[in-house]
Amino acid sequence: MPYKKIGKEDIQFLKSIVGQTQVIEKNDIEVDFSHDELQTITAFPDLHIFAHDKSQIQAIMTYANQEKIAVTVRGSGTGLVGACVPVEGGILLDTSKMNQIIELDHVNMTLRVEPGVLLMDIAEYVEKEGLFYAPDPGEKSATIGGNIATNAGGMRAVKYGVTRDWVRGLEVVLANGELVSFGGKVVKNSSGYSLKDLIIGSEGTLGIIVEASLKLIPLPKETMSLLIPFDNRTLAIDAVPKIINGHALPTAVEFLEKASLKFSEEFLGKKIPHADYEAYLLVSYDGSTKASVSYDIEAVSDLCLNQLGAIDIYLVDTAERKESVWSARGAFLEAIKASTTLIDECDVVIPRANITEYLDFTHQLSQELEIRIPYFGHAGDGNLHIYFCKDDLSDQAWEEKTQIGFKKMYDKAFEFGGKVSGEHGIGFAKKQYLIDQVGKTQIDIMKGIKQTFDPNLILNPNKVI
Ligand SMILES: Cc1cc2nc3c(=O)[nH]c(=O)nc-3n(C[C@H](O)[C@H](O)[C@H](O)COP(=O)(O)OP(=O)(O)OC[C@H]3O[C@@H](n4cnc5c(N)ncnc54)[C@H](O)[C@@H]3O)c2cc1C
Repeated sequence: MPYKKIGKEDIQFLKSIVGQTQVIEKNDIEVDFSHDELQTITAFPDLHIFAHDKSQIQAIMTYANQEKIAVTVRGSGTGLVGACVPVEGGILLDTSKMNQIIELDHVNMTLRVEPGVLLMDIAEYVEKEGLFYAPDPGEKSATIGGNIATNAGGMRAVKYGVTRDWVRGLEVVLANGELVSFGGKVVKNSSGYSLKDLIIGSEGTLGIIVEASLKLIPLPKETMSLLIPFDNRTLAIDAVPKIINGHALPTAVEFLEKASLKFSEEFLGKKIPHADYEAYLLVSYDGSTKASVSYDIEAVSDLCLNQLGAIDIYLVDTAERKESVWSARGAFLEAIKASTTLIDECDVVIPRANITEYLDFTHQLSQELEIRIPYFGHAGDGNLHIYFCKDDLSDQAWEEKTQIGFKKMYDKAFEFGGKVSGEHGIGFAKKQYLIDQVGKTQIDIMKGIKQTFDPNLILNPNKVI
């Protein structure tokens, strides 16, 4: 699809919308805005534009649609699949300055926000009010717009679901500049197709989120975690369904192995307590009273020690232990990244029942391809983060091994009924695997939807499908 090459007149017009200083021209664009967090996909836009409100976005889109200029939205750029990288050039539309919390509605238990508000700011704001927005993707400096556009997940998905479950309404600027409202503050909605849910996870290809109404619940007053060591990963992973099917649903069930903990220890430069066992589950419970959470903790401890082969149970209860264990878990991606020259990732989600078999397959593949493949995972929801590490491989060997390796990893996941992405999306990097997973009929339906929302195909071109 040929897009218009941006000229002087376009730049003048766009500056008249947002102000002279809010349009950065090609030669002055910082390299950070040519990639996302993973840095495997890179491309510079022709213009980097900061938007400050929805009317500016409407005006930019009306113009871009008339002139057929490609527009890629960017939040914080913490994505991992090249979704915010402007691979067709054009405008990089930055929403990071639209960062106002608009309204906390105590009666309807909703929070209205602009798209550039950071996840960490939402958590801090609502928790001060005794309220809770449950989705907790690992990268707290991501924007809520980016979280919604990727339907971000996180560790608490086991109990609370993912971003989509916490969005009541969206205001969206369409490709032609029109502002539309999907959903609202209502708790239920059976009114026609759920266009709100279509926008969630659409990675900036169907519309630009300019406002969101998020669902809130009362803040759970008590949270407790357990670090549970096992002799091997099979025992640890086999314990997960029994823990989940037990008496109470945990908030999170994370799977850790000695190898990944060692990366974190090296990266953080500090020792993690009890880090010498082969495999672990990190299990959390929350609730409204200490007694109810203690009851859950005792029940799961009893189950793990007496029936599931756990070696011991470590309560993560003091501030120091919480900081140590959770910071180690939170640092896995950064630690793996720091251990090598380049990484590429596989964020598959598979049925919980197949995790052990899938990880055995990953180990075999690592040996077969002679490439390091560390991983960690949300064992409670079957979402695994598996990283190919370049180390000292040549560029050509890296290309070959990742191509062969990823194809095998995804094909194996599909055998089990798994999906390409559990939470990071498809972006640019995983497009071929989506085709392999869903097939022509579904891709054609998606293309039809794209065509309806964005007939000139200007929004985040060459992504997802
Ligand atoms: C250390 C680390 C840990 C992470 N942990 C998790 C995790 O636990 N779970 C998880 O899901 N992800 C995780 N991620 C990935 C990343 O943080 C998420 O994908 C996040 O949702 C991206 O938000 P962002 O603001 O950085 O968006 P960007 O990377 O800027 O953009 C992502 C996509 O959203 C689109 N977009 C952004 N804003 C808008 C908007 N207003 N309207 C329409 N489209 C928009 C972009 O066009 C792009 O397609 C992690 C990343 C890192 C680096």
